[in-house]
Amino acid sequence: MALPKIDNLEITKVTEDILLVHQIKHPFFFSCCDGLLILPKKGRNYRTISLDLNIEPKYVNLLNKVYGPISDYVCSHGHLDHICHVHAWEELGAIIHAPFPEAHFLLDLHNFFLGFGFGGGLDYRTVEEFAKLNGYQQSKQVKAFTPGKTFQFDNFKIETISFQGHSKAHIGFLLPREQVFHISCLGFDKPNLETEGFGPWYGFKETSISQYLEDINKAEEIFLQRARFLTSSHSYIVENPDLSPFEYMRKKIKYNQEKVDNALNVSNCTQTSENNAVSHLLDMDLFFPKSRLEGVVYEIYRFWESWIIRKHIQRSKFFQTLGS
Ligand SMILES: [Zn+2]
Repeated sequence: MALPKIDNLEITKVTEDILLVHQIKHPFFFSCCDGLLILPKKGRNYRTISLDLNIEPKYVNLLNKVYGPISDYVCSHGHLDHICHVHAWEELGAIIHAPFPEAHFLLDLHNFFLGFGFGGGLDYRTVEEFAKLNGYQQSKQVKAFTPGKTFQFDNFKIETISFQGHSKAHIGFLLPREQVFHISCLGFDKPNLETEGFGPWYGFKETSISQYLEDINKAEEIFLQRARFLTSSHSYIVENPDLSPFEYMRKKIKYNQEKVDNALNVSNCTQTSENNAVSHLLDMDLFFPKSRLEGVVYEIYRFWESWIIRKHIQRSKFFQTLGS
């Protein structure tokens, strides 16, 4: 079947009946992510299934006209770019599934605020305004599942794979029979071959770089042994045995560590308290161009960057803490 032409959507076939969908222009920084549409196939799934395709409601409705009805929607984790517009799929009748413990972030933004520890530096209004800018609307009903659960929709099987380095709930999707592996937000985020993205993201207290490195190894093994195609939330399709996504993610983390190590040395912060080192390095705009940001966007990026810096300070061989 020919693919529909929808302005501002890029629709690519991963296999004959599995599509990767990408919204090209986004209304704000964290409002969208790419996801998969599993089209109906005789003897497999009778209705379309959507995997983590968080795009603006008008596009959800257009896709539904071509491929609906949608029986189920599975969310990969509770970050804004994965939960903002899920309500649109629910309004079309899809059953919404989301991983524990972030499933309830879709139901109420207060849960999102508390769950990700924003209270440790920001007030609720700041986060609320940022969420609104990204188009967040709550869903009404969400079925929570434990990361690692295997779903079966009719005869279609999906294994969820826990990748906790990014967030406690974060999962990838392995479609074993179709040999498609969607690693969600693990950190392969190159828009195309030539352009770099940010890479793995660990801007909350709960994230862990060492867990991240383990997750990347685990994902690489699964890809090599069990999948032919690799897809993700912010990049293009990669075919086995191309291991560039994993090399890219490891390289980014290593580069970030070097950036923090250098900054600790040049600012004479190798022997001080951790908080002092974090605040010094924050003023250097190492990761985000905060001097060009303002308002809630500045506040949020500063909060995220403080955790990214702190995680690397804690791993730095140049740093000797004098208290906290
Ligand atoms: Zn994420």
